Parts: sequence; C-alpha cells; structure tokens
Amino acid sequence: MNAQIDTDVVIVGAGFAGLYMLHSVRGLGLSARVIEAADDVGGTWYWNRYPGARCDVPSMEYSYGWDDELQQEWEWTERYATQPEILSYVEHVTARFDLRKDITFETRVTASRFDESTDTWTVKTDADEQIRCRFVVLATGCLSSTNLPEFDGRDDFAGRSFHTGQWPHEKVDFTDRRVVVIGTGSSAIQSIPQIAAEAGHVTVMQRTPNYTIPARNQSLDPKEVKEIKANYRTWRAKARDATAAFGGHRPRVDVSAKAISDEERLERFEDRWALGGLGFGGVFNDLMLDPESNALAADFFRSKVAEIVEDPELSEKLSPDTVFGCKRMCVDTDYLATYNRPNVSLVDVSETPIERITAAGVVADGVEYEADDIVYATGFDAMTGTIERIDIVGRGGLSLRDKWSAGPLTYLGLGVESFPNLFLITGPGSPSVLTNMIASIEQHVEWIRDLIGSMTDQGLSTVEADGESEAKWVDYVNAVAGLTLFNNCSSWYLGANVPGKPRVFMPLIGFPDYKVKCDEVAAAGYDGWVLN
Ligand code: FAD
Ligand code: NAP
Repeated sequence: MNAQIDTDVVIVGAGFAGLYMLHSVRGLGLSARVIEAADDVGGTWYWNRYPGARCDVPSMEYSYGWDDELQQEWEWTERYATQPEILSYVEHVTARFDLRKDITFETRVTASRFDESTDTWTVKTDADEQIRCRFVVLATGCLSSTNLPEFDGRDDFAGRSFHTGQWPHEKVDFTDRRVVVIGTGSSAIQSIPQIAAEAGHVTVMQRTPNYTIPARNQSLDPKEVKEIKANYRTWRAKARDATAAFGGHRPRVDVSAKAISDEERLERFEDRWALGGLGFGGVFNDLMLDPESNALAADFFRSKVAEIVEDPELSEKLSPDTVFGCKRMCVDTDYLATYNRPNVSLVDVSETPIERITAAGVVADGVEYEADDIVYATGFDAMTGTIERIDIVGRGGLSLRDKWSAGPLTYLGLGVESFPNLFLITGPGSPSVLTNMIASIEQHVEWIRDLIGSMTDQGLSTVEADGESEAKWVDYVNAVAGLTLFNNCSSWYLGANVPGKPRVFMPLIGFPDYKVKCDEVAAAGYDGWVLN
C-alpha cells in the first residue's frame, strides 16, 4: 500500500457509537475524523426531540461505562432520563474528552469506495470532499433514517407536519390544535399523552395496538445511586452478562409461565407490572419461546387494558392479538389512561388503511379527520436503511446494496466479506437493538479498537470477513431467531414496516453468548477473518 491517506479512520456518525469510537481510535495513537449529518452531537438524542422522549433502559445503565471518573461524576436525576438530559450528557462527554475538534458537522457521507491497489477507502461527502483513509467505521445508528409512508397527497396538507424522528429544536405548541398522530409504536406511546395534555383534540391512527408497560418513572434515590456508584464496574459487568445487557443485578428468573399455579403466575405478573419497565419481559423464562406462555402474558396485558381504559369498545381496540413482545415492547407514562380523556379518539386503520392526506387532514375509511397538525410517529427504516443510503463499493466493484439485496449478510454483525477494513457498529447479525444499546456499542467499539490496534502493531493492511464464516454466521442468526417467536409478526426487526424490504430477522438474540463468541474469535487470532 503506502498510499497517501488523509486520516487513519473515518467514522460516520456522532452518536454514542461514533463518539466512543473516536475516543478509542485516538487512544491507539491513530488519527480519525467523524462526519456527522446533524449540526451537533447526540445522534438519536439530537434528532428525537418529540414531547415525552426519554430512554426506556434505566439511565444508570443507559450511559457509558468506559470511564470511571465520568460515570462517578455524572448525576442522572430520573430512573429514565429525558431526551434533553441524555443530550446534555452526550455534550458533556464531547467536551470532557475534547472530541468536537475531530468532528465535521452538517455533512453527509454519500459514498465510500475501496481501492484494492492501495488498500484504502475513499469516503465522499455531500460537501464534495473526498477523504482517503485506511478504515471506515459506520456508526450510523440503527434507528436514524425515518420511515415516512408515501401516503397519497402527503404534501397537500396545509397544516404543520412532524416526524418524531426529525423533531424541531424549538418547542412545538399544540395548544387548542387538532392533532392527528399516525402510529402507535414507542415514539407515539411516549408522545401521545403529552400532546393530548396540550391539544384541543388528538386523533390517533392505529394500525396495530402495542404491548406497553408502565415506566413507573421516578426521581433517582440518592442512596441507591451511591450504592450503585460504589460498585459501578461490577454492576456494569453484571449487565453485560444479562440477555439484553441491562438489569444484570436482578436475579434471573428460571421459571416457565406454565410451571406454576394460576394464582402464583398472576402474582408474578402483577409484581412486574408494579415494578414497571422492560424488565416485565423477564418475568418468566419462556415468554418468547413458548406460544402458550406467551399467550398468558398477552392475556394479562389485555386484562390491564380493560382495567385502565373505561370505554369497552376502545379497550377492545387497544388490545393486541399479536404475539407478546414480538414487536419491540413499549414503556409508557399514562398511555392507556390517556384514552379516557374526552379530547382523545382512536381510529383503527388496520383493515381500512389511511387512504390519503388532504389539505385539511387525513382520510381513512372514507372519513376525513380534520387536523391542524399531523405527527408521523411511523418509525424508521431500521438497521440497514441508513447504511444502504450510502453508496458503498468494496472489492471487485461489489456494491453493499447489491450484496444485501435479499437481506443483510455480516460476520458477527461487525464486518462484511468483500468490504475490507469496513466495520459496522451494532450492525445486523449482532444483538444490537435487542439490548441496552450503549452496552452493545461499547462492546463493538472495544472489539474494533483492539483489532485495529493489533493490525497496526503487526503492520497488517487489511482485515476482511471470510465468506464461509459469514455464511455460517447468517445461518446461526436465523437459526436462533427460528427457535423463538420473533418471526411471528410484522416488526421492524424483520424489515416488515418498510414496503419492499426483505423480510429477514436482523438482530441476533442473546448478548452474553455473542460477547463470548467475539472474545473467542479475537483470542484465536481473529478466527473467521482474513488478515493481510
Ligand atoms: P445514532 O444515535 O442513531 O447516531 C447515528 C448518527 O449518524 C446520527 O447522528 C446520524 O445523523 C449520523 N449519520 C447517519 N448516516 C450518516 C451519513 N451518511 N453521513 C453522516 N452522518 C450520518 N436504545 C436503548 O438501548 N435504550 C433506549 O431507551 C433507547 N431509546 C430510544 C429512543 C428513541 C426515540 C430512539 C429512536 C432510539 C432509542 N434507542 C434506545 C436506540 C438508540 O438509537 C441507541 O440507544 C443509540 O442512541 C444509538 O447510538 P448510535 O451512535 O449507534 O446511533
Ligand atoms: P415503530 O415502533 O416502528 O412504530 C411505528 C408506528 O407507525 C407503528 O405503530 C406502525 O404500525 C405505524 N405505521 C407505520 N407505517 C404506517 C402506515 N403506513 N399506516 C399506519 N400506521 C403506520 O417506530 P417508533 O415508535 O419510532 O419506535 C422505533 C424504535 O425506536 C422502538 O421500537 C424502540 O426501539 C426505539 N424507541 C424507543 C423509545 C423509548 O421508549 N426509549 C422511544 C421511541 C423509540 P404497525 O405496527 O402496524 O407497523
């Protein structure tokens, strides 16, 4: 090789992943440049400023664990941090580690091409810059390209339109306004109660009712925080041994929902419901494995809907008949109770889809619902969407889009055959969106850092996933999913929310085994990777 390079590593994205990657590359004594489309850091927490946005993994866990001083000095205020609080945390980290000087903002990476004669990548941006580097790290986020359905007449709407994932920076005032919210996923479920508290009327257009667990958000108890901080490292290490990379301090339940009496089961469901949060899914060990156990959880949830929602017809509409937990479970504050408000109505668009948008509102089943504002809470082209928006060309002129046309192919979710020195963070084929993503990000960044460090020490130029290992890995990811109930619904995990997207279950289930596998691969001299 010996081609002139502009920087050792180009990192695309300045969210949690890109920022830690930058810090880690610097630690190796290498140079890096981060390219970020937004005008500031934060990724998800920069873009998703809708009312009610907050994490649903507890803040003491949804934060970096790689710097002890950082985790000791930062004070989270609530069990689930709000978007502004998370964003100020990210800004604090950026300043504390002097990261900003290596980040180019308001610039989008449009293409990246591998040059086999020099073993370098040329990264192109929409500012017409070409950056030549040895490594490219795609820290582009799994939920960073919005999904805006192509409703007829969408641009005819005369009022204001918002997507939750591209929310304005200034407060949006809904006072006395008629608002239509499209969607009932996590973003809708968090924002609807807050919008309803302000608006004149809210009409929610629901295609699929969702399972949602009360957050039971509260101020953090200083005593509890002190205890966690006294053993933060151990506490974080335990999280890494938990299936979803958080909640590792809680004892694991190893009981089937079917193995106990009806009374005991109900008691356990009630206890978890009272505790709140995503931990509800861990109440039994087989909710995602056994259809009968799953149905028991679904029944319990429906009984809660009936208890909370006063109007029986509404309660029925809000009761899912899908597999519990198959779509990403939601966590809410007062979501179901919001339907008891006189200014909130629900339109079922499952059988009679939204027909069109007009200047005055949204038409479904022949009825025009007049609106001053439309909120699209319609999600994201998840996991692959953002990566495929970049024109990535590897060895032999192979385009990543073509390679992934029937679904993403990766080895460990970290790399792709024919795309040397290109790394994905929380890519398809890794536990990613099924985990506390900060823990997944840290594990990926550290693994990539160690590999780049090892290559640099040995004077190696390229690393590339071996084709056979990649094929076996993809089979393994599918096989694990096939053992569960995750394939039994139209979730974004399967790409089912985006018309035309291949239906493949993209993340790998089970963080601890994955982490062990990655460690073993590294210890065996990067087994399954070709190093030159
Ligand atoms: P992101 O934060 O998405 O950052 C990626 C960045 O890359 C973005 O800033 C984007 O602008 C930039 N980018 C993308 N493409 C390009 C390009 N071509 N050129 C230049 N820049 C580009 N996860 C949890 O574990 N717990 C939670 O509670 C949780 N809550 C969430 C709430 C919401 C509303 C959403 C949308 C997601 C949530 N997630 C949660 C997932 C969340 O995305 C991750 O936790 C985490 O923030 C991802 O960080 P990241 O750096 O990988 O990606
Ligand atoms: P989402 O879960 O994909 O929900 C999108 C919603 O829009 C769904 O209800 C979907 O209905 C509906 N929809 C999409 N296209 C539609 C159409 N053409 N007509 C009618 N309805 C349509 O997106 P999200 O709520 O933004 O959440 C995405 C992910 O981000 C979450 O699963 C989670 O991982 C993360 N997140 C987390 C939090 C948190 O609590 N911390 C908050 C927000 C987001 P169908 O279900 O029928 O497809």
